[in-house]
Amino acid sequence: MRILITGGAGFLGSHLCERLLSEGHEVLCMDNFFTGRKANIAAHLGNPRFELFRHDVIDPFKAEVDRIYNLACPASPPHYQHNAIKTVKTSVMGAINVLGLAKRVGARVFQASTSEVYGDPEVHPQPESYRGNVNPIGLRACYDEGKRCAETLFFDYHRQNGVDIRVVRIFNTYGPRMLPDDGRVVSNFIVQALRGENLTIYGDGTQTRSFCYVDDLIEGFVRFMESTGLPGPVNLGNPGEFTMIELAEMVLKKVGGKSKLTFHPLPSDDPRQRKPDISLAQSHLGWEPKIPLEEGIERTVAYFKSVVG
Ligand code: NAD
Ligand code: UDP
Repeated sequence: MRILITGGAGFLGSHLCERLLSEGHEVLCMDNFFTGRKANIAAHLGNPRFELFRHDVIDPFKAEVDRIYNLACPASPPHYQHNAIKTVKTSVMGAINVLGLAKRVGARVFQASTSEVYGDPEVHPQPESYRGNVNPIGLRACYDEGKRCAETLFFDYHRQNGVDIRVVRIFNTYGPRMLPDDGRVVSNFIVQALRGENLTIYGDGTQTRSFCYVDDLIEGFVRFMESTGLPGPVNLGNPGEFTMIELAEMVLKKVGGKSKLTFHPLPSDDPRQRKPDISLAQSHLGWEPKIPLEEGIERTVAYFKSVVG
């Protein structure tokens, strides 16, 4: 198949390019390089089945493709808050553009939505039926509401125009090729520990997150894209739940050194807890994550050792 990946030079996108090329597909990678890097996809530049396009998803894009994975959007809070209005445009106009393309060429289109649609959840763990608790005017709203509106657009194009959609809600995912200055917690802690700096815990560190290793997530993406009978939304994530203090201690155990934990103000609207209910992915896709946090952290530490001086 010929497959378009928007945001293909980013963290998740580059792993997806690699996976789809290894299966023999043609991959069109589109990215504006806001948080993506050519280095992430450099290995494929000589591959005749790979094409790279510097393009912004807020502008229409034309290509004859069978599948579209829409991943274009910065995912880390400091990056998506850097230009909040652009983040809304990327989610909303990006969704309109990929859906318009899918409608025109008859492609199946996949949306990388997020656990952020649940906001600061009052239901725990979060099933897909939970409608969320999002502050529509807070600092995270540009991302959360942008992604919620993109889900709306996906389902309206599906109902109104019969577009074949797949919507996943991704919970925190980590692994090699995250940017050292990405700002998300796993890369921050590992890079700080490797540099011998103190680890920055925001708030009291008792807030929880569930961390999925990238290879597990990509397996879930491909299984869902090629499944039939359900447009989504489907939660994908690892249900193991950890406090930020537990995560910091695990990173320190793996890296060693003399770093200490330091405590900093909690960013506004930072969710207290997050853990996916993955029963739908288990029953519909036969999918569940295989790589425990400790092993994933080891692999990610090995990667950052090779890139952080
Ligand atoms: P990332 O920041 O590494 O990748 C995003 C990619 O999109 C980058 O290559 C960036 O340059 C590109 N991009 C951003 N704006 C664009 C635009 N306007 N036009 C074209 N390209 C643009 O982040 P990631 O972790 O790889 O996330 C990929 C997708 O998955 C995002 O849509 C994100 O919201 C979603 N997601 C990720 C996670 C996670 O934990 N990694 C969790 C939930 C949802
Ligand atoms: N966090 C932290 N130290 C950091 C970066 C993040 O304690 O250096 C916290 C952050 O406040 C949040 C959790 O870690 O409670 C996960 O943050 P991340 O930005 O990775 O993802 P999100 O909040 O979007 O789930």
